[in-house]
Amino acid sequence: MVPRILMHVGPSVANYSVLSAAVQPNIGFASPEFNEAMKNSLEGLRYVMGANGSYLPFILPGSGTVAMESVTSFLHKGARILVVSNGVFGDRWEAILGRYPVEMKVLRSEPGKAVPLEDIEREISSGKYFAIAMTQVETSTGVRLDVRAVSKAVRGKVDLIIVDGVASIGGEEMKAAEWGIDVCLTASQKGLGAQAGSGLIVASEQAIRLLEKPSVAGYFMDLRNWRDIMSRFLSGEGGYFATPPIGTVFSISRSMDLIRKETLERRIRRHEICAEAFRKGIENMGLRILADEGLQSNTVSGVMSEGISIADFLSKALSNGVEFAAGVHPALKGRYFRVGHMGWIEPNHIIQAINAIETSMVALGKNVKRDSSVEAGEIFQKHPEISAIPNL
Ligand code: PMP
Repeated sequence: MVPRILMHVGPSVANYSVLSAAVQPNIGFASPEFNEAMKNSLEGLRYVMGANGSYLPFILPGSGTVAMESVTSFLHKGARILVVSNGVFGDRWEAILGRYPVEMKVLRSEPGKAVPLEDIEREISSGKYFAIAMTQVETSTGVRLDVRAVSKAVRGKVDLIIVDGVASIGGEEMKAAEWGIDVCLTASQKGLGAQAGSGLIVASEQAIRLLEKPSVAGYFMDLRNWRDIMSRFLSGEGGYFATPPIGTVFSISRSMDLIRKETLERRIRRHEICAEAFRKGIENMGLRILADEGLQSNTVSGVMSEGISIADFLSKALSNGVEFAAGVHPALKGRYFRVGHMGWIEPNHIIQAINAIETSMVALGKNVKRDSSVEAGEIFQKHPEISAIPNL
């Protein structure tokens, strides 16, 4: 059997130490070991999101969608929210918030593009919005929104700035405190490369103050139920509202140790170089990246691949040792596939991915140029500093 690597858009390539940390027999959620892992994970969350000590971090059982839905804890009845959607996961904000008694307007972009900053500024300047919700990396297209610029433009004009960083945190720069982002959220299985099973959030003081007022939230995802428990874990104690994702927390804690050791700056740089080398391989093959230049993320790439069956391509690529993901944007269905280069991604994964794409395309009769990974290899040779991910 060909050794297999996972370059789906999340979970993505695994780190054995981080995944196996989840296996902790006979250690429950009231144990000192678990309290320590929670504290380490919560503090790590502040680190990867650029949140200072005034932000409260949360770890909830579930996934990124749970973290998204938990923002209803900050929203009052009738609150007006501007949703900036660059694709399927931006639209998820609309799907979630549409279940609650709030008002919403959605600004949408074409696939591969981002809603222009001027459009956001114009809409917000009407002065009628309580919150803005956006997605840093849109996983359906690989587009990165400049959330720093959006936050700067809307700061002071809304009460709450919310960023979905599910496909970006750990692989893209995020400075929640410096950029004035109130709520930033992610999931354990993506850029942090830990076991799936958890939604992760940091919330500013301003956001936490809103928890004193009534909101539209339901029960399980109401952060009022979790706030004091998270504060207790931060001070080294334990607490219970609902069973935490025990194994996942141990895995997140190990991931945070590795991230600190590598440093976030180097980790982001590694993602940046890997993404650049991957795109170079695609370009050399004569294929096209879906996201416009200047909007291409460090963590996810969409690759346009007309003229072949994507299902056949995915299964051929799998037999060549790499699992990729299908394209999901409804406007481009069947015309592209997606690649996750996040978490524990290393140069050899990128080379393997480019080679698997090339070999699979050739096998399916697509006329792509050969030896497309050579230049990617040259890019990596220029950056020896990113080649080794530290181990513990
Ligand atoms: N937002 C983004 C940007 C995502 O990529 C995803 C997962 N693909 C989600 C939200 C939902 O996360 P989950 O599948 O963990 O619920």
